[in-house]
Amino acid sequence: MEVRLLDLISQYDGIRSEIEDAVKNVLESQYFILGPKVEEFEKTVAGYCGVSYGVGVASGSDAILLSLMALGTGPGDEVITTPYTFFSTVSSISRLGATPVMVDIDPETYNIDPGQVAGAVTGKTKAILPVHLFGQTADMDRINEMASERGIKVIEDACQSIGATYKGRKAGSLGNAGCFSFFPSKNLGGCGDGGMIVTDDEEFASNCRMLRNHGGRERYYHDVIGINSRLDAIQAAVLAVKMKYLDGWSSGRRKNAEYYGRELSGINGISTPVIAEGNVSIFNQYVVRARDRDGLKRWLGENGIGCEIYYPVPLHLQKCFSYLGGREGDLPIAEKAAKETLALPIYTELTETEKAHVKDMIKEFMEGLD
Ligand SMILES: *Cc1c(COP(=O)(O)O)cnc(C)c1O
Repeated sequence: MEVRLLDLISQYDGIRSEIEDAVKNVLESQYFILGPKVEEFEKTVAGYCGVSYGVGVASGSDAILLSLMALGTGPGDEVITTPYTFFSTVSSISRLGATPVMVDIDPETYNIDPGQVAGAVTGKTKAILPVHLFGQTADMDRINEMASERGIKVIEDACQSIGATYKGRKAGSLGNAGCFSFFPSKNLGGCGDGGMIVTDDEEFASNCRMLRNHGGRERYYHDVIGINSRLDAIQAAVLAVKMKYLDGWSSGRRKNAEYYGRELSGINGISTPVIAEGNVSIFNQYVVRARDRDGLKRWLGENGIGCEIYYPVPLHLQKCFSYLGGREGDLPIAEKAAKETLALPIYTELTETEKAHVKDMIKEFMEGLD
């Protein structure tokens, strides 16, 4: 039996005609970049998050980059973030000439540890950039409190967490602005790249709109040096269809997570994910810790089960960030997580037989270790 880590074909099979009609409508209109479809979808996502503005951009990475640009982040500024995340959280800071300050994570949720953030704040701190990893939000109250006391902005990297809630409020609405990715493997994925910034701050939203379109409010008049990063109408049309299913898909993932939680937590050498009190996760990834993680990964692969390491090298130890002076041992909790964690198939369409197969194979391997 083969169980893929993510099977987008089974998702597509359920909504094929709606998606194809939506794409066809855009083709008939020949209106491809921004425009009414994108505006409508911006309003939908903002409304879903409970904020006033959405700004559609070309990717989640650009949503982060543009948010930092809109704050005026540049050389001399520091941005506090986590090393245990996708590359572009940190590269967006570097690209603007600012300094990423990476601090360690919470060992249970894998999200940035607010206590560590407190110790890293300096007079140069421009922003805090927490990541809502794997589908659950960071401990935002403590981060927001620290930030507001010192006039520091908070940008949420919510690329893996659209629809997740923290004390009843949606990811993306918890800081000054939130960044989403519509990369195909996210819970809300397009048929290509896409992203969005959501915020309640009108001026910030207006700056983001200007910056995503070469820095001009009026065509051929450029106030600042922006970039080309716009959401296109085909993505917006596809995403608008999928948006209707998002909550159902995410609750299907939570049901699968409950199953694994029940079935895997008794196995020696496996720790299942911890969802902090007050959080509802969308389980973009279902990540366990395992004794002999690399052996387990090999074994599952040999038995046709897709699994992946997110992320094998924490960003403070990446070659491209060596100029920051990060060393092995600096951020031990993130480094340990990178050696022990493994993501398992969690998508909604998994069948009972497939889940049971994943469970059985993990059990067989772990029992063989003793
Ligand atoms: C996917 C992701 C991004 C980048 O999104 P893209 O749309 O691929 O550019 C940034 N941060 C995190 C945490 C992500 O998971």
